[in-house]
Amino acid sequence: MANIGFLGLGIMGEPMAANLLQGGHQLTVWNRSPVKCDRLVGLGAVRADSPAAVAAACDFTFAMLSDPVAAAAVVFGADGVLQGLGPGHDYIDMSTVDEATSVRIGQAVAGAGARFLEAPVSGTRKPAEDGTLIILAAGDAHLHAEAGPLLALMGKMTVYLGELGHGARMKLVVNAIMGGMMSSFGEGLALAARGGLPADDLLAVLDAGALGNPMFRIKGPLMLAGEFSPAFPLKHMQKDLRLALALGDILGQETPSLAAANGAFADALAAGAGDEDFCAVYRTIRKSGDQ
Ligand code: NAP
Repeated sequence: MANIGFLGLGIMGEPMAANLLQGGHQLTVWNRSPVKCDRLVGLGAVRADSPAAVAAACDFTFAMLSDPVAAAAVVFGADGVLQGLGPGHDYIDMSTVDEATSVRIGQAVAGAGARFLEAPVSGTRKPAEDGTLIILAAGDAHLHAEAGPLLALMGKMTVYLGELGHGARMKLVVNAIMGGMMSSFGEGLALAARGGLPADDLLAVLDAGALGNPMFRIKGPLMLAGEFSPAFPLKHMQKDLRLALALGDILGQETPSLAAANGAFADALAAGAGDEDFCAVYRTIRKSGDQ
């Protein structure tokens, strides 16, 4: 049994932490809005007052935070993780952030005498609940090996990518593809509707052929029903597309489709859909044809 900490109990963090607890480990939790700790405390977790207190109490502290600003705030802020880390108190950040943020955190963690792993995930709320995420790890190889059984409680597969920053890169590449697929899917549904084609037939045709995939299968009916309660908040997808575009700039790779998808998600964000599911981009795409 390990002493495990978890920071950030949002849509993803709460079920991920619950799986660690149900794996038989001692769990200490912190969330900026304390009320989100309540369910886990009810299941046996201990609530701590700050990220520093969690890191000091635990062998391994995990984080699942919204974006680079949140990830840095929890590490470098007052009573942040850095104040509690040290030898034997390591840090694993599973948030989706850019490479520069991850490397900056990794260097600071190493400076405190602790080890660091970045481990963003592919998969949404249901895989988080089921412990079937795909984990994209990079950084300290020994920590990766030691934390393997803990990662296995949250994911069905872990890819170890070596050098710190490559986990962040892989995650942004995956979501760049996903964002492009979703905006194309939304445009196709909108085009079919305007062309008088039955939406159910379009979904069936896609599913029967090489374009069939779980995302279209699950999200398609929800999009047509206007059911956008968040599994993956649209604001986070737009953040990922923005960060992926910046990665393209850094690496000198042109990504015109990614820029177009980012534009569609930025429009949806500006229209107030940030806290809805990312498939709500469909509503903005559909409305654009009304003008
Ligand atoms: P979420 O429900 O919005 O949760 C975000 C968490 O970050 C909350 O605990 C929030 O605290 C915390 N937070 C935000 N700003 C903070 C700050 N300045 N200081 C401290 N804590 C802060 O998001 P989520 O869907 O769980 O996603 C978490 C991460 O996983 C994101 O990086 C996202 O891109 C990534 N991800 C999400 C999915 C998905 O399907 N949802 C899938 C793969 C990866 P409060 O409760 O106080 O707001």
